[in-house]
Amino acid sequence: AKRKGRDAAVLFTKDMAEEASLKLRRSEELRCAVENGEILLHYQPQKNLKTGKIFGVEALARWRHPTEGMISPCSFIPLAEESGLILELGAKVLELACRQARSWQDAGLPALKVAVNMSARQFQDCGLTTLVSDVLAQSGLSPCCLEIEITESLIMQDVDAAVRSMTQLTELGVTLALDDFGTGYSSLSMLKRFPLSKLKIDRSFIAETPTHPDDNAIVSAIISLARTLDMEVLAEGVETEAQADFLLAAGCEAAQGYLIGHPLPPEMVARLLAPSHAK
Ligand code: C2E
Ligand code: CA
Ligand code: CA
Ligand code: CA
Repeated sequence: AKRKGRDAAVLFTKDMAEEASLKLRRSEELRCAVENGEILLHYQPQKNLKTGKIFGVEALARWRHPTEGMISPCSFIPLAEESGLILELGAKVLELACRQARSWQDAGLPALKVAVNMSARQFQDCGLTTLVSDVLAQSGLSPCCLEIEITESLIMQDVDAAVRSMTQLTELGVTLALDDFGTGYSSLSMLKRFPLSKLKIDRSFIAETPTHPDDNAIVSAIISLARTLDMEVLAEGVETEAQADFLLAAGCEAAQGYLIGHPLPPEMVARLLAPSHAK
């Protein structure tokens, strides 16, 4: 039994070493990808269900790998976070998103707010406010057209530091949205301390509405919480008409999800926004 245990341990270590070197190679590859412009953005429309107006888009990173095709952010964002590359990657994403939003404006399309996701590591970086302000100035995008999405786990790591960074960003004129709301641990009293403009209801709560009474109740509670705190609310992952109807009836007008549109390359967004030029 002892012998068997030792062999297992050796195997285990070998696997781990192999995995580590694979990861290392992958993050090197990702570093080059950021430098070589293989990271691009797709944009998912956000719509007001009552007016039918598209008021914003969320920028979602994609890695166009030369041989493997399009790689999902779920596989490379965690890698970038672990390796620290997220700072460069995040800066690149911010720059691409702001430049794109400005170029839609220049093309005469209706004004849009662009939402950019931000990782904890970027948020802890003391140069973040300067970066955001520089990127806005260089792209010529008005700060009120930029929204930064952060998660509860991010802000709960160091509440005071998070409040400071968030305050600086809002002083620039940028708005802040709390992403995946309901999946983290923030207490309601905490929420009040943060200068957030918007709660994004996580799609896991939307998925079973309107058939699942518990989820209906949770979603309704989040909507009234947002109202109480004087915040906007947006539902993520809206896939069906029934969900959209439920949300409207519950008082949530802003929605994002496959029902409204999948994440799209920039030229498709332009077509969506200017239906007269479409087809
Ligand atoms: P997220 O911020 O929660 O983004 C929403 C994700 O849900 C996107 O996946 C989107 O394609 C997907 N989605 C949208 N509507 C629906 C729907 O109706 N049904 C379902 N089932 N899914 C829907 P995506 O693009 O694969 O991104 C995954 C995650 O990767 C994002 O989740 C975000 O956390 C992260 N991410 C993406 N881009 C960036 C980035 O530039 N920086 C950072 N830090 N994270 C990013
Ligand atoms: Ca997001
Ligand atoms: Ca989300
Ligand atoms: Ca999510």
